[in-house]
Amino acid sequence: MRICVLGAGVIGLTTAWSLTEAGHDVIIADGASRPGQGASHANGAQLSYNFVAPFASPETLRHLPSLLLDRAGPLRIQPSLNPAFLRWASAFLRACTPRAARATTQAQLGLAALSRAELDRVQAHAQLSFGRRVAGKLVVYRNQANFDAARRQVESQSGMGNEQLVLDARESLQKEPGLRIAQSRLAGGVFTADEEVGDCAQFCDGLADHLRRRNTVSWHLDAAITPILRHGALAAIRAGGAEIEADAFILCLGSGAAGFAHACGFQLPIQPMKGYSLTLRPRTPEAMLHHSVTDADRKVVFAPLAPDGTPMIRVAGIAEMIGHDRAVDPKRLALIRANAADALDVDPQSDPTGWAGLRPATPDSRPIIGRSPVPNLWLNTGHGALGWTLACGSARLLADLLSGATPPLAPLFALKREA
Ligand SMILES: Cc1cc2nc3c(=O)[nH]c(=O)nc-3n(C[C@H](O)[C@H](O)[C@H](O)COP(=O)(O)OP(=O)(O)OC[C@H]3O[C@@H](n4cnc5c(N)ncnc54)[C@H](O)[C@@H]3O)c2cc1C
Repeated sequence: MRICVLGAGVIGLTTAWSLTEAGHDVIIADGASRPGQGASHANGAQLSYNFVAPFASPETLRHLPSLLLDRAGPLRIQPSLNPAFLRWASAFLRACTPRAARATTQAQLGLAALSRAELDRVQAHAQLSFGRRVAGKLVVYRNQANFDAARRQVESQSGMGNEQLVLDARESLQKEPGLRIAQSRLAGGVFTADEEVGDCAQFCDGLADHLRRRNTVSWHLDAAITPILRHGALAAIRAGGAEIEADAFILCLGSGAAGFAHACGFQLPIQPMKGYSLTLRPRTPEAMLHHSVTDADRKVVFAPLAPDGTPMIRVAGIAEMIGHDRAVDPKRLALIRANAADALDVDPQSDPTGWAGLRPATPDSRPIIGRSPVPNLWLNTGHGALGWTLACGSARLLADLLSGATPPLAPLFALKREA
């Protein structure tokens, strides 16, 4: 088949790879001039295969009022009367029950396991190097009640195939000597030994180069994409001056996917959730992190990376639902910088500009993979805070569905999904 993949972020690129592996001819179209320039660019770098706790959860719901009232805090939502926002918000509240959060955790763990195996395959076939390593992940809690809730989450995930260690404050600081938080300010932590890190932008560059070398892949970059519908099906897309026809189209536009779906006549429950990152230099070799770390109460993640062999720490956080603006707000960046300086011995000015990206967030925190209401348009989007982790498994699931298979995971990620 001739298949057009809409979007060249990590989801579009991995989808293109899976489709070429299945023998299809692939066209990749994106509005940016280079692949991997959206949310995939400078994300938190965490391949979080076990720690998949969804944002939609009873804990988030419980803390929502205080999080929203804290104007300098990590979460900001601009309420809107826009029907798409209201639908999203009401579905989000329904997804915050213990039962729904448990179902999402289980679904995400299944997709994460598939993703890890598929990333091994992609890496081996395409010979990619992007700083991937098993670093282990330590999630630390400053607040006792939050630590207790995390302990309960670990217990509820036990038996789902993951090994997580609950540590007290002293053990947490021993586990990660690069952390500079005083023991008296920590309640404890959860360590997951086999979590990984890797640079998503480097992966996207490498995979795009690999796909460029294949004569079954062609590219249309640097032009916004709009649909051309005929007789209820997607006949083609318009990308700049070009009209691109294909047998099937795969929607991987991240936070732009809901707008494209709307133009095709259906609703996708995806809202842009803005986040920020900095890539900072540790002041001394001892200040480099051994593991990736999440400062859970401040909602900041730290990942040890070594682009070009230089030890650096990627710091990422903040969740803002304030529309599609990707501009870096200096006040919000200052919050991330202050959080990094509080927890680590880094030079906070070593990345003066920072970065912001839009996570494509669904109400229940699960991606949407499978058919759309338009017969030849398929969906692989809405990966929220876990798109780097879940990319390769999502791509595989989509390619299997397109070939007519019925993978057991598929109903959990369909647009109209099983709870
Ligand atoms: C601060 C931050 C930290 C994160 N940390 C992590 C992490 O540690 N681990 C993890 O697993 N995930 C993380 N994520 C989430 C992850 O980065 C995203 O889920 C993932 O990048 C989404 O990939 P995507 O390909 O769907 O979207 P994108 O990378 O945004 O790609 C979408 C593409 O579509 C194009 N596009 C959109 N609309 C149009 C249009 N109308 N016309 C033409 N082109 C269009 C864009 O140019 C873009 O290239 C983080 C995200 C952020 C913002």
